[in-house]
Amino acid sequence: MIIGGGAAGFFAAINHKEKYPDHQVVILEQSTKFLSKVKISGGGRCNVSHACFKPTELAKNYPRGQKELLNPFKKFQAQDTISWFENRGIELKIEADKRIFPVSDDSQTIIDCFFNEIEKLKIEVLAQTSLEFLSRREDQWLIQTNKQDFIADAILFATGSSPRTWKILELLGHTIIKPVPSLFTFNISDQRIKDLAGISVKNGIASLMGTKISQNGAILITHWGLTAPAILKLSAWAARELAEKNYEFELRINWTPEFNAEQMKSQLLDYQKNSPKKIISSHPLFELPSRLWNNLLKAAEIPETMRWTDASHKAIFRFAEQLTLCNFQVQGKSNFKEEFVTCGGIKLSEVDMETMQSKLLPNIFFAGEVLDIDAVTGGFNFQAAWTTSWIAAQNM
Ligand SMILES: Cc1cc2nc3c(=O)[nH]c(=O)nc-3n(C[C@H](O)[C@H](O)[C@H](O)COP(=O)(O)OP(=O)(O)OC[C@H]3O[C@@H](n4cnc5c(N)ncnc54)[C@H](O)[C@@H]3O)c2cc1C
Repeated sequence: MIIGGGAAGFFAAINHKEKYPDHQVVILEQSTKFLSKVKISGGGRCNVSHACFKPTELAKNYPRGQKELLNPFKKFQAQDTISWFENRGIELKIEADKRIFPVSDDSQTIIDCFFNEIEKLKIEVLAQTSLEFLSRREDQWLIQTNKQDFIADAILFATGSSPRTWKILELLGHTIIKPVPSLFTFNISDQRIKDLAGISVKNGIASLMGTKISQNGAILITHWGLTAPAILKLSAWAARELAEKNYEFELRINWTPEFNAEQMKSQLLDYQKNSPKKIISSHPLFELPSRLWNNLLKAAEIPETMRWTDASHKAIFRFAEQLTLCNFQVQGKSNFKEEFVTCGGIKLSEVDMETMQSKLLPNIFFAGEVLDIDAVTGGFNFQAAWTTSWIAAQNM
């Protein structure tokens, strides 16, 4: 029995029935729609995975699950995802940033693929059927739903981030790591980025002050603050710390990650020596966008018309700090493109990651977002769902 008609539930059902054709497999889904998150995923294109084929590298993209997913990825990783879909006639493509999509650029292709398999394998799917209560009947499970009761030898929980279902599992003895949001953008109101919406740097470092957590990547200025990979990755890696701070915290940006503050000071002094006549504001360095360069100059109290030769060491040092130790007060968060990812879920130490079986309850398995596993953006969340459900399917 599979509880949950999402990505993990369908993938597990198909793989299980293929391996054990004699088993009766049923998917219960509480809502009217199956695979609803697959449909809207990746802006309607479904970013099914990420072209990262080394388990050790792949696992590094999971703030929760990094250690625990290492062995599972040795069994089923991004290359296996590509083969799985290609073996079923679905062509996938790898984009420049390594995200993997169906060639059709349409999530419906993935949904159609799953439904073809479900029909071929005669897997039963029941919508509007919600697990309400679970209890043991000798060596089987009694599943009570809003409609009818079922008896099952084994159950896979592929129920995503469902507080109600986590409660059922908690009552059965599992520990639920408190869910908090992951993957969000930062709200900042600050003169230095005011009116710069749309401007980005290719590579910066974003750090959470007071911790050792920092991430690098592109940084994009928006109307409400900062976003893009460095920020989103930081939001994921620091999800718990940021929730504790109620999303009010100090953020530090290094706009020029190849230099720290001391190195930047000597870079600027060298430049002053070599180009004394140049007007500082007219010649941005380090590939920084001119308007950002000028706002940082203003913050360092360097006049727009000043030449390098006229800048004092003190002023140059202030500017070096704006470039490398640029602190912002973050006041709140915003969703990233409607993509709500939560961290939290079934505590991983209570799951045998070799089989995805509960260590506490006989013949209960877990896959997908119900687990305390989450990733940065880029197709990694689906990859975790495919991997954990494929392993559960082999072992149920
Ligand atoms: C807008 C959006 C875009 C995204 N885009 C991407 C992307 O492009 N790439 C990527 O890797 N990740 C993406 N994600 C994340 C990805 O969608 C999830 O990680 C993935 O869907 C998790 O799959 P799942 O099967 O574990 O959970 P879900 O897809 O949430 O499925 C769980 C199902 O279980 C059902 N259920 C829960 N409790 C019960 C119960 N008691 N009885 C019966 N049924 C129950 C729910 O109704 C639900 O249908 C996106 C997420 C969102 C919200």
